[in-house]
Amino acid sequence: MEEKLLSELFPSMVERRRHFHRHPELSFMEKGTSAKIAGILQKLGIETTVNVGGFGLVAHIRGELPGKTVALRADMDALPIQDEKTCEYASQQPGVMHACGHDGHTATLLALAEYYSRTKAKLRGEIRLIFQPAEEVCPGGAKSMIEEGALDGVDVIYGVHLWTPVPVGTVASAPGPLMASTDEFFIDVQGRGGHGGMPHKTVDSVVAASALVLQLQSVVSRSVDPLDPAVVTIGSIQGGTAQNIIADRCRLSGTVRCFREETRALIRERIHGLAQNTAAAYGAEAHINYMMGYPSLVNDEGEYRRFMQVAPGVFGLRAELSPKIMPAEDFAYYLQQVPGCFMLVGAGNPEKGAIYPHHHPKFDIDEDAMLHAAGLLAAMAESYQNEHA
Ligand code: MN
Repeated sequence: MEEKLLSELFPSMVERRRHFHRHPELSFMEKGTSAKIAGILQKLGIETTVNVGGFGLVAHIRGELPGKTVALRADMDALPIQDEKTCEYASQQPGVMHACGHDGHTATLLALAEYYSRTKAKLRGEIRLIFQPAEEVCPGGAKSMIEEGALDGVDVIYGVHLWTPVPVGTVASAPGPLMASTDEFFIDVQGRGGHGGMPHKTVDSVVAASALVLQLQSVVSRSVDPLDPAVVTIGSIQGGTAQNIIADRCRLSGTVRCFREETRALIRERIHGLAQNTAAAYGAEAHINYMMGYPSLVNDEGEYRRFMQVAPGVFGLRAELSPKIMPAEDFAYYLQQVPGCFMLVGAGNPEKGAIYPHHHPKFDIDEDAMLHAAGLLAAMAESYQNEHA
């Protein structure tokens, strides 16, 4: 990996990241972002397929030496948040903001496009750049890009997330599960409404739903292995219209997070059982809409070891074992198909105001993290190619 060349590309990385930051687009609507990327890749003379699984792009850079195919992925969507920053590159799109750093991921991958088109003579195999739409909203863009062939012929995949909870200069990952699976559910408890003064003529959906909220707390505490992290959260409860009317129907919604598919299936089954049986015990009925979101993100253990090995040689980064984290990532789908590693690249820095959590209206990154991300991805790819040469 040539640090000097990457460093030369850094100013344009910053410029492009700021362009995307000023012009964010929501998930499944990344038309302008996609067109901008296509234009840059075209200028570099890189073979690119556009509109893969939505506004996704797949770019192929073939080296002059034989080798494997290494995929590198960036997501490119923004969030429905009003940007509260006052800097010159603040969002110009009301109510839409790059509050997760995907603008930085895109700029990082574009810098690598330039890097590889200049170093083709020494490059082994193929570098496949995947610019993915719609990471933030299920079903996400990864799945549809895979279905349309983005991973065909790929041997290994690497991805990064610029991450403000980790200080700039540090990178972190984990062998095996790193990020949680995420599911959503909605339960309608259907009773029989009536007069608040005559409950014996009704089936009170609020009482049945309240009992269910408490019952659901037993799923993680009584059914899941205490050493296996999991969350069941009821985020909303809505029922009734006035103090003297017994509610006909009460609706609950919630989210489930965990790390193992077996645990995920167990929790789903327990929620169904508790909802149906608790409602029935009160003479009500439960109608359950359970939606599977992203699976848990599971890194290949050998690729994690590669990460620990190569990271210190990249701009002197400090590599750490990350604890598991509860946010989800549709990079998980790629890792279900091919081995690889997803890495958190420290982007927090109080001196530069990069102190806010992801999805915060004042979210910002230390842009130096993009250089670290690019170096790390290039070093991982090079190490893989050399090992398999
Ligand atoms: Mn993200």
